[in-house]
Amino acid sequence: MRDAIIIGGGHNGLVCAWYLARSGLKVTVLERRSVVGGAAVTEEFHPGFRNSVAAYTVSLLNPKIIRDMALARHGLRIVERPLSNFLPLDDGRYLKIGAGKTATEVARFSQRDADRLDHYHRHLDAGADLLRELVLQTPPNRVEGGWLAALPELLKAGRLGNRMRKLSLEAQRELLDLFTKSAGDYLDGWFESDPIKAAYGFDSVVGNYASPYTPGSAYVLLHHVFGEVNGSKGAWGHAIGGMGAITQAMARAARAAGVEIRTDCEVAEVVLDQGRARGVVTGEGERLDAQAVVSNLNPRLLYTKLVDPGALPGDFLRRMHAWRCGSGTFRMNVALSELPDFSCLPGTMAAEHHGSGIIIAPSLAYMERAYHDARSMGWSRAPIVELLIPSTLDSTLAPPGQHVASLFCQHVAPQLPDGSSWDLHREQVADLMIDTVDRHAPNFRRSVLGRQIMSPLDLERTFGLLGGDIFHGALSLDQLFSARPMLGHADYRGPVPGLYTCGAGTHPGGGITGAPGHNAAREVLRDFKRSAS
Ligand SMILES: Cc1cc2nc3c(=O)[nH]c(=O)nc-3n(C[C@H](O)[C@H](O)[C@H](O)COP(=O)(O)OP(=O)(O)OC[C@H]3O[C@@H](n4cnc5c(N)ncnc54)[C@H](O)[C@@H]3O)c2cc1C
Repeated sequence: MRDAIIIGGGHNGLVCAWYLARSGLKVTVLERRSVVGGAAVTEEFHPGFRNSVAAYTVSLLNPKIIRDMALARHGLRIVERPLSNFLPLDDGRYLKIGAGKTATEVARFSQRDADRLDHYHRHLDAGADLLRELVLQTPPNRVEGGWLAALPELLKAGRLGNRMRKLSLEAQRELLDLFTKSAGDYLDGWFESDPIKAAYGFDSVVGNYASPYTPGSAYVLLHHVFGEVNGSKGAWGHAIGGMGAITQAMARAARAAGVEIRTDCEVAEVVLDQGRARGVVTGEGERLDAQAVVSNLNPRLLYTKLVDPGALPGDFLRRMHAWRCGSGTFRMNVALSELPDFSCLPGTMAAEHHGSGIIIAPSLAYMERAYHDARSMGWSRAPIVELLIPSTLDSTLAPPGQHVASLFCQHVAPQLPDGSSWDLHREQVADLMIDTVDRHAPNFRRSVLGRQIMSPLDLERTFGLLGGDIFHGALSLDQLFSARPMLGHADYRGPVPGLYTCGAGTHPGGGITGAPGHNAAREVLRDFKRSAS
């Protein structure tokens, strides 16, 4: 019999499978799609044009996991962008961030802001460093039982408290801000000019259906800066071959460690016997048994669709139904005959700004309006678009002289306010996104040779992302750390013995980090050791 079955071959499922197999367990991964990788896949979306069709840029992938799984040996190569961000502005100016020129660029808008940049980054990095330490730890968990059961968790909480105590008072104040404030209030406290606040504030609305002035959005900003590219902290980069290169390397590593991977294999049900998970039944009706079942799915999807509700405590099930999911994201891939020719920085020959994350959202007020529009009418009259053109860094994606671009657009409503289906509006909203880029680069619309559209509903249908939620559940204070996915279940174990969770709906949350998979494997292995002794 198998030791463990992993439901879902997203990157976290693959990471978890590898750590389990490396420790000698017999593991099978069951993936519903015909390709593993979840939202980190590269696909041909237009004849001759390939792109990372959902997740599109890498930073958060944990360096320990890259090393442990020897992903470089399995073919993974990540390169840094020549410039982090480029913001074309409505008044014909622009802002560039990164490549050692941020201070000079920001000074064109405000010398005061330029002078504050180093201080700001020192503070933000202190928060990001703490997060880096926490991502590979299991959060302190609320446990039932006497003091003996609670002791290890108390020790864990004590160690964390001690770590916090060692921070200066200034750093503690900053952390409190980052965990509770809105990104808008946080950034307004540092800077005065709109473009720099927009450049940094963009991270707070990525996948977060909220205004940058919604309390808690500062944490989402922090969540996007705890990564690194080849040792360069906070940088974002590109995996050669697209995001699928990451998960294909993971799949190769997993197979080499002995993992069996089955694609086109949807799990319909978790088999329970005397209240314990014993295996799964596939959509084809095949039963597979295992000592442990580990789910890579959004926890709401797992517990409301795949597990007998009678086996779950009433309060747990009620809370799972109320698990907050739904990003305000709309994703497009476009095949381009030429590079965008920006009015504020003309030229279609590849330049550093073409290789950056191009953000169309000139101010926090613009982002706030976008959110309020989406709440009332389903999408924003002036949407937030990030455009990334990976073919400027990677010749494997498009025919010579042509390009592919990812459009990552915020804010649209996960479910439309009038109750209509996204299928009725996706083409119209896709036109709006293209027009939004075209306003700044007037050759854009006519350069589009083909396009792939993913509304929140398409993201749900294709990848199992409920409400198109890119994080498997909002990254809000009530759904983080010891409360992810729920107080009492932060240790990757649910209420059903033998059933674990290893996806982005567990600590430390969404993004291509591999951390939930890594941490869940450690807990599964702990239980195997306990039952063997
Ligand atoms: C549009 C978009 C853009 C993003 N951009 C970025 C980015 O640039 N950088 C970044 O770091 N992160 C990004 N993210 C977030 C990141 O991709 C996710 O947080 C991450 O993929 C979660 O990984 P996971 O392995 O936990 O789950 P997933 O990637 O969601 O994988 C879950 C897997 O389970 C499978 N599955 C579902 N149901 C079943 C079933 N019943 N039986 C079997 N298999 C099943 C699914 O097909 C899927 O393969 C983005 C996400 C989206 C959607």
